[in-house]
Order: sequence, then structure tokens, then C-alpha cells
Amino acid sequence: MSLPDVLSRIEAAARRAGRDPETVRLVAVTKGHGLEEIERYVLRYGEFPLGENRVQEARAKIAAWPDREWHFIGPMQRNKVRYMRPFALIHSIDSVSLATALAARAAREGYRPRILLEVNVAREPQKHGLDPGELDAAVRAVRRLDDLELLGLMTMAPIADDPEEVRWVFRELAVMAAQHGLRELSMGMSADFEVAVEEGATLVRVGRALFTE
Ligand SMILES: *Cc1c(COP(=O)(O)O)cnc(C)c1O
Repeated sequence: MSLPDVLSRIEAAARRAGRDPETVRLVAVTKGHGLEEIERYVLRYGEFPLGENRVQEARAKIAAWPDREWHFIGPMQRNKVRYMRPFALIHSIDSVSLATALAARAAREGYRPRILLEVNVAREPQKHGLDPGELDAAVRAVRRLDDLELLGLMTMAPIADDPEEVRWVFRELAVMAAQHGLRELSMGMSADFEVAVEEGATLVRVGRALFTE
């Protein structure tokens, strides 16, 4: 696949579900790839938000292209909140205490981060994310933090041979977002983005599929 193939698959999946393809954005996950590869496989096709999951690696790339739209998608320790300012959207906030630390730091720096709450929909023990049972309370608490803006939810589906096996994960996340009036749904990766789009994804985080001929 290449980036244009991924885009046409996103578009087809949106149409199958009766959705406007314009409501789905591709976040090109560039982790593990150097600047030349990113130019060759991503940037030459247009202005896509770029997703990174490690602070150190992201900082080097942001220094090279500060005007790009960068998204942070990885797990984060609290001492890393001070590096979040360059990111237009943080997908991976998985606790109220992390959100609180981020809001406090951002208030001091004078900006207002936009975040998603990560939910471990399938309750996999090794995965990050809020337990679905904790979500109501977390949304209420995070909405009380005036110094950040909660836009939606994010999840990573379990690894599956057939993406149909994880359709329920995306469907449940969409229900949770609707219940809370949250508009952004970050779900779907190389293995399962078409199913995620059919279930309402507004942001798909695709890496590997972009970097193979
Ligand atoms: C790496 C990563 C992706 C992209 O995964 P691919 O399988 O390479 O498409 C998406 N989301 C997160 C959080 C990631 O760490």
C-alpha cells in the first residue's frame, strides 16, 4: 500500500457506511522513520497531521518541521507533560492525574492543550487506557479542568487476524463518545482502519501501511 491507497480505502469505507469521507482525517504515524523516508512516503502527498509516540524522537522531527501539525499518540509519564506544547492534539491521556498535570503545566506556559482520553475498550491487561467503567467519572473530572480541551476518545484494538473480530471495540468507543457528546474518535491502525472508519472514526492513525511499496 501507499498513502494514496490508504486514502482511497478510507474514502471507500466511509461511503460504505454512508459517511462523508471529509469527516475522516488520516494521521500519518511516522515513528521509527527518518526524515527522508517521511518525505518520500508521506509529505509529498500533502499536508497530513503526523503522529509520534515517543517524546525524544518527536522532538528531533518537530525541530526539522516545526510548522507541520504534530499529534502525540504514545504513552506518557507525568514528567513528559512539559514537552507537549508543540502537539496540536494529544491522543493518549489515560488518567485524570495525567490530565491534571498537563493542564497545570499548560496554564503556566499559557496555552490550552487539546486532548483525547484513551480507553482500553477490550480491557487488555497489558494495554494503556482507562477502563470503560472509569470513563464517566474521568470525563466529568477532565471537563472541570478549564486549562485543557477534551475533544474525544481514542482506543487501540486488540491484535486480530481478521479486523471483523475487533469491530465491536470501535462500535463501543463510538457509543461512549456519543454518550458524552464528544466528537473526535481516534481509532483504526494499519490492520483495521477500514472497519474503524465504518464504525465512525474521525482520526485514523496509520503507520506501517504508508511505508510499504
Ligand atoms: C504505532 C502506532 C500506530 C500505527 O500503527 P501501524 O500498525 O503501524 O499502522 C497507531 N497508534 C498508536 C498509538 C501507535 O503507537
